[in-house]
Amino acid sequence: MTTSPTASTSPAPGGTATLLGHHVLGPELPAVPYDHPFRAEFRGWLQQHPLGPEPLEQDARIAHRRAWHRELAADGWVGLHWPVEHGGRGADALTQFMYYEELALAGAPEPANTPGLILLGPTLMVHGTEELKKRFLPGILAGDEAWCQGFSEPDAGSDLAAVRTRAELVGDEWVVNGQKIWTTFGQYADLVFVLCRTTPGSERHRGLSLLVVPADQPGVTIRAIKQISGDEEFCEVFLDDARAPRDWVVGEVGQGWAAAMTLFQFERGDQGYTDHARMLVRLAGVERRLAESETAGLVSSVRAATARARHRDLWVRIQGLRLLNYRGAVLATSGEGLGAVGSMTNLVWGELEKELGAAVAEAVGACGLRAGRHDTHERLHTRAASIYSGTSEIQRNIIAERLLGLPR
Ligand SMILES: Cc1cc2nc3c(=O)[nH]c(=O)nc-3n(C[C@H](O)[C@H](O)[C@H](O)COP(=O)(O)OP(=O)(O)OC[C@H]3O[C@@H](n4cnc5c(N)ncnc54)[C@H](O)[C@@H]3O)c2cc1C
Repeated sequence: MTTSPTASTSPAPGGTATLLGHHVLGPELPAVPYDHPFRAEFRGWLQQHPLGPEPLEQDARIAHRRAWHRELAADGWVGLHWPVEHGGRGADALTQFMYYEELALAGAPEPANTPGLILLGPTLMVHGTEELKKRFLPGILAGDEAWCQGFSEPDAGSDLAAVRTRAELVGDEWVVNGQKIWTTFGQYADLVFVLCRTTPGSERHRGLSLLVVPADQPGVTIRAIKQISGDEEFCEVFLDDARAPRDWVVGEVGQGWAAAMTLFQFERGDQGYTDHARMLVRLAGVERRLAESETAGLVSSVRAATARARHRDLWVRIQGLRLLNYRGAVLATSGEGLGAVGSMTNLVWGELEKELGAAVAEAVGACGLRAGRHDTHERLHTRAASIYSGTSEIQRNIIAERLLGLPR
């Protein structure tokens, strides 16, 4: 891909350790060394593949990320944690964790095809047939086929078991009818994984199936929804006699809930692997701008000190997230599964993300930092962090019931 050498691929000022914090993540977890050979190897690759700044405009941003995904994939830098038989490197939790940290430190985006790479791909490995794995996994890794998640409906969000979209087997095809909503980047997707009712008259979590539906067909209409940030990140998806091949079912017919729960585990663990490092990079950036403003006499020392106190508090809490993320990575890789621990990560991540967005906006407003369009965009976008992949209230319910054993 054509790039300009503007992205910073060098370690942050003060060194990686200063930026990321202490490298021992808990007595029972292995340390994450900063001088690990994997970091040096990947950092070397990143330095040879510098990436220009990410465009703010959505279509350009998506194109930029997809090109980046393909560039990473071409050299085997996508899906490190996937088993070798499925095109990955069979990397362990430590490697996967360092991979995401190094991407964030380099200011590089993650691979683009998140719904495929993090959600559907790993779920297929657990529940999919050999044919489905062969058909879909290579395209996910290479970034050739983009996916979106068709779970939420107008009356089924937190209460996902209320899903009403239905599919009926007609000959060799499923005929799907219903509506999905809040479908992230649906307008760019080639394939939608749809949770729908395949047993007529069934209720709640029984009688559901997870179907793969091609997006480009007359029965699928995808309409983007404009958000406050200016993005059109999510969409409405209308399924009117949409067709899907009979065999494109992930897991058993009627057992879609089990597949969906597996997928949620991946979804709730994933936020983690990387986002603490991105948060720390953002925090370091705002601190740097604060210092510049102070030197230029644009901010009083009292205001600057107040902002710094808040940033320090956030830094400490992001370190807590780093620990949770690493635990999550270890659990996910061990095959033990994240279970309700994923809800802890998700809750801490979502709330911190919002607070960081607010802290940056406040530093910009109160301390006279030069406001960039990215600041405003991020401030507005981070408001959604406690909603998607399950709201903070739902995560708290799960933690209360499953981890703390409190009554419903
Ligand atoms: C940016 C973004 C991207 C998204 N991407 C996707 C996607 O790609 N695919 C997809 O399928 N969905 C997606 N979603 C949808 C997301 O999963 C839902 O918004 C979320 O699950 C909440 O559902 P809801 O919006 O229907 O709110 P509701 O479930 O109606 O909740 C409304 C409020 O009530 C609270 N509440 C509900 N039930 C309880 C309860 N039992 N206890 C306590 N409080 C409760 C909620 O916490 C919330 O505050 C996305 C959402 C956002 C914001």
